[in-house]
Amino acid sequence: MTSLPILSVAAPAPRRGIPPRHLADLDSAARRGAVAELGERPYRATQLSTHYFGRLVRDPAEMTDLPAGARDRLAGELLPRLLTAVREQACDGGTTRKTLWRLHDGALVESVLMGYPDRVTVCISSQAGCGMACPFCATGQAGLTRNLSTAEIVDQVVWSAGEAARGVLTGCPDRLSRVVFMGMGEPLANYTRVRDAIRRLTDPAPDGLGLSQRHVTVSTVGLVPAMRRLTDEGLSVTLALSLHAPDDELRDELVPVNQRWKVAETLDAADEYAHRTGRRVSIEYAMIRDVNDQPWRADLLGRLLSGRLAHVNLIPLNPTPGSRWDASPKPVEQEFVRRLRAAGVTTTVRDTRGREIDGACGQLAAGELMDRGRGAGRAIAIAPAHQEAE
Ligand code: SAH
Repeated sequence: MTSLPILSVAAPAPRRGIPPRHLADLDSAARRGAVAELGERPYRATQLSTHYFGRLVRDPAEMTDLPAGARDRLAGELLPRLLTAVREQACDGGTTRKTLWRLHDGALVESVLMGYPDRVTVCISSQAGCGMACPFCATGQAGLTRNLSTAEIVDQVVWSAGEAARGVLTGCPDRLSRVVFMGMGEPLANYTRVRDAIRRLTDPAPDGLGLSQRHVTVSTVGLVPAMRRLTDEGLSVTLALSLHAPDDELRDELVPVNQRWKVAETLDAADEYAHRTGRRVSIEYAMIRDVNDQPWRADLLGRLLSGRLAHVNLIPLNPTPGSRWDASPKPVEQEFVRRLRAAGVTTTVRDTRGREIDGACGQLAAGELMDRGRGAGRAIAIAPAHQEAE
């Protein structure tokens, strides 16, 4: 195929739900192609990538190594604005910051930036809404609005890295080092875009952000075929499995996708991932009072997991508005931990960041925003779990 320089490229009319093309949607060969189609030398693609991923710069005025006449057009075509911050909130003494983003078509998602003395983590969304319908999670109540594009996922991280570099958080490094897909949505239900986003986040600069794959965590309800596909990708990201119950009877209710893929099959897929990658799988377990916190369930979970390459992360339930469920009392939680450890299973209890700004697991934000505003439109719940697996 011959490529002719095209002098003007008419932008297609924006289609609802489909965000404009962005550099982070493309691999490096496609970026060069896109730049050539705009009539520019292909190496300009590397310069643009260096600004975006390497310097966290997106303002054309700062791209002084690009010819003045080309800057606006290149940036306009390949770095369109995908995310607009609608609301920002800070808590936990300035170490946690939640951002509510509006996407080009009005869909809302959020991300949460968390600083620790030795690291900075961002919790991001992979979908607007979620179709998995877990009854204790607020996102699950509102259903799926749409998948995010690769660049909409990546851009949450690049913005956050820029914020961290500006020093917006206190008491932590200024370099963002970890990403958890524990915001809104089911990452493995948006498989190719999430996989491509992982590549962009972990490719070395200037092609990508250069994060370590082991510092990226993908959390799933347990979509077994997609877990198997991920196992075959040759990536070494950390996999988190939202188990929440060791028995099918209860898990069918708490994680409805269990009606399709049962506990045993899901754990086998997690095991296969662990063995292929050598990475321990993190088993997520929200502690829900009198629902899944009985000593016998701790023992059953211990038996299921002992000898596997896995550890348990207990999450104190964040009760969502109107929910009939509550968090387990501390002594019950401690007994649960004791029994798991006695079975030889490494167990941690997650710290709960962001609670006071509704930035913690399963809490509602966008719905409230719309209610307080015009009161029109369908309320969209954004309800991520913004805590990081240790
Ligand atoms: N869809 C992915 C990512 C969701 S959020 C998944 O399910 O794994 C990440 C974690 O937060 C999941 O384990 C999810 O079950 C949990 N979570 C959701 N709502 C919660 C709540 N109200 N309290 C505690 N954990 C919650």
